[in-house]
Amino acid sequence: MPADNPFAPPTATTNASAGAGAFHVDGELLVIDVSGPPLPDRCVKCNAPSTVRHTRQVQWNPRWVPLTIIVCWPVYIGTMLATRKTAKIDVGLCAEHEQQRRTYQLIGGGLLVAGLVAMVGGMTVEELVVAMVGFVLLIGGAIAIRPSIVLRPVLIDGEVGRYKGASPEFLRSLEP
Ligand SMILES: [Zn+2]
Repeated sequence: MPADNPFAPPTATTNASAGAGAFHVDGELLVIDVSGPPLPDRCVKCNAPSTVRHTRQVQWNPRWVPLTIIVCWPVYIGTMLATRKTAKIDVGLCAEHEQQRRTYQLIGGGLLVAGLVAMVGGMTVEELVVAMVGFVLLIGGAIAIRPSIVLRPVLIDGEVGRYKGASPEFLRSLEP
């Protein structure tokens, strides 16, 4: 349905209907108002009609934040909370891509849990090899779970979020 106008007039952001068309394309990125206006009823991964909606809160931190874990856990958590920005998204997926997303989530989630258990367990009983296997599983899990993230924020500032992960077909459909 091409009824959604991705280029709402600037005044639209200041009145009650703010968000109705508050998204646009910037190169390979989707730029969406942080209020999470619903994107068109099409799969963001292939532009086919969508069968499920993903309405969720996403959070973003600057890329350097995970490095603070080198200092210690409390510093990492403190920095993460201090620099965290959140936004809402409301996007559609087709049945096929929803299935794919769930599969990646299951595999990635399983690896992450197994990795965490092995790493913490290995460190607790001072079995370095087990802990290292756990670490490798954690990395594998983090990689495997990535495709299950529908849209990945690359930057969220006060007004808008910028997201990677939409297909070129979907992005093209939003262009004027
Ligand atoms: Zn799809």
